[in-house]
Amino acid sequence: MGRISKILIANRGEIALRIMRTCRVLKIPSVAIYSVADRGSAHVAYADEAYCIGPARSVDSYLNLDRIMAAIHESGADAVHPGYGFLSERAEFAQACTERGVIFIGPSAAAIGAMGDKMLARQLMQTHNVPVVPGTDGAVTDLDEALEIADRIGYPVLAKAAAGGGGKGMRKVHSAQEMEQALNRAQGEAGSAFGDARIFIEKYLETPRHVEFQVLADAHGSCVHLFERECSIQRRHQKLIEEAPAACMTEELRARMGAAAVRAAQACNYVGAGTIEFLVDKAGNFYFMEMNTRLQVEHPVTEYITGLDLVAEQIRIAEGKAIPFTQDALTINGHAIECRIYAEDPATNFIPSPGTVTFHQVPVGVGVRVDAGLQTEGDIPIHYDPMISKVITWGLTREEATQRMIFALEDYHIAGVKTTRGFCRRVMECAAWQEARLSTHFVDEHPELLAEEFALPTEAAAMAAVLLQEQRTASPLTGGSAWRSRRRKGGILPGNDFATDV
Ligand code: ADP
Repeated sequence: MGRISKILIANRGEIALRIMRTCRVLKIPSVAIYSVADRGSAHVAYADEAYCIGPARSVDSYLNLDRIMAAIHESGADAVHPGYGFLSERAEFAQACTERGVIFIGPSAAAIGAMGDKMLARQLMQTHNVPVVPGTDGAVTDLDEALEIADRIGYPVLAKAAAGGGGKGMRKVHSAQEMEQALNRAQGEAGSAFGDARIFIEKYLETPRHVEFQVLADAHGSCVHLFERECSIQRRHQKLIEEAPAACMTEELRARMGAAAVRAAQACNYVGAGTIEFLVDKAGNFYFMEMNTRLQVEHPVTEYITGLDLVAEQIRIAEGKAIPFTQDALTINGHAIECRIYAEDPATNFIPSPGTVTFHQVPVGVGVRVDAGLQTEGDIPIHYDPMISKVITWGLTREEATQRMIFALEDYHIAGVKTTRGFCRRVMECAAWQEARLSTHFVDEHPELLAEEFALPTEAAAMAAVLLQEQRTASPLTGGSAWRSRRRKGGILPGNDFATDV
C-alpha cells in the first residue's frame, strides 16, 4: 500500500465516469477499458488513457480477466477500481491484482469469497450475532429435509441459490406440493446461471422493506456505518428507487441495525466500502440478507446525506490511510432520493428497450445531481445493463427531495428509447410514496402507475426542452404562449384585457 498514482477503472458507463471524476479531483490519472461496442462512449473520452479489451459481449471484454490484467500491465496503473457488477465481486480478480502488486480498491479476495456465498455468509452472520432470515444452515440436498424445514419455518419459503445475485436464482414455494418441482427448477437454474447448483431455504417474508447499511472499514481496525438506504421499490427483485435515510427508521432501530452491520463487516475482516442488506418486517424485526462487497449503484444518496465522496474514501482506504472520523462524528443531513433511469418499458414488465439515445438533456438545479453514462447522445448497447443514468435529489426534508425530484424528472429530456422516467415521476407524485407506505411489492401493488411509454423522437424531446426553457424564462410582462397559460396558474385568462393584466 502507498500513494496511488494511476487508476484503471475496470467498468463502463455511468459508474466508470463517476469514479474518474473523483480521480480528477484527487489528481490521479485514470485509465478506461472498453469493448468494441463502447468505442464512442463518454467514459472512454473522459479518461486520460483508454484500452480496447475486446468484442462487445461481456464475457469477451468486461468479464475477461486476462485482457483486463493485460490492460493494467500495459497502462502501468498501480490500482484498479472495479465499480459494481462485472468483475467487482470476483475474488479471483482481487487475487490476481494483489499477486501482481496492483492495489485492488475493494476488500480482500478472502472477504469477497466469504460474502459471495450467501449460504456461508448466513452461517458467518449467525456466529456473530447478526440475525438472519429463518432457514437452513447449509445446502439442501434432499426433498424430505427441505419439506421438514419448510414445515418448521412455515410456508411460503424461498429456495435460493447460494451463488445467486442480481435478483436471479430465487423461487417462491407456497406449499409442500410445490417443493419438489421448485427445488429441481431452482437447482437447474442456479447450475446453468452461476455454475453452482447449491440451494438453501429461507422463510419468505410477506411484505418486507429492503433497508441496507453502508459501511466503511480501514486496515487499522476502524469500522463505521454511514447510515441506511431504503431500496424497497424494485422490479424483478432489482432496485429502481432508493432513498436515505429510510422513512420507516427510528433512532433505536438505526442504532441496533447499524451495530449489526458493523459486526457483519468485522466478521469477515472487511476493509473498504461495503453494504449490508437487510429485510425489515412489519413488526420492525430485521434480518441479514447479504453483503455486497463493492460500491453500490445507489451510493450517491448516502453521499448527499453525509457530505462524503465514497470513491475518495475507498481510494484513501486502499492507500492504507485511516478513516479520519469516528461514528459519533457522523450525522444525517437532510434527505436524498435516487431514481434510476433505465432504457426499459414499464408497461411490458420493464423489458429492456436498448437502442440509441438521440437526444439527452439532463436537469440541473439546487439539490439535483445526475450521474449518466452518456452526454448529449449515445448508445445503450443490448449487451449490458440498460441503465442510462441516475437522478439524485437532496432536500432538507423528504418532501423537499421529492418535490425536487418531480421537477428534475420533468426537466429531463430523453429521445430515442423508452425509459423509466415517467414511471419514476408518477411514483413521486403518488400518495403511497408521499406517505412512505413502501414494501418490496410496491410496483406490483400499484399497477395504476404503469403507463405506456413512448420513445420520443429527437425533435419532440428537443422541442420540449426548448419550450420548457421558454416557459421558465418568459417574463410575466411579456406574456406567454397559450400552452404556458394553460399549464401555469397566473397566466393570462382568455378574454382578459392584456392591458389590465399589466
Ligand atoms: P440478489 O443478490 O439477487 O439481489 P437478494 O438476496 O439481495 O438477491 O434479494 C433481492 C430481493 O429479493 C430483496 O430485496 C427482496 O425484495 C427479495 N427477497 C430476498 N429474500 C427474501 C425473503 N426471504 N423474503 C422476501 N423477499 C425476499
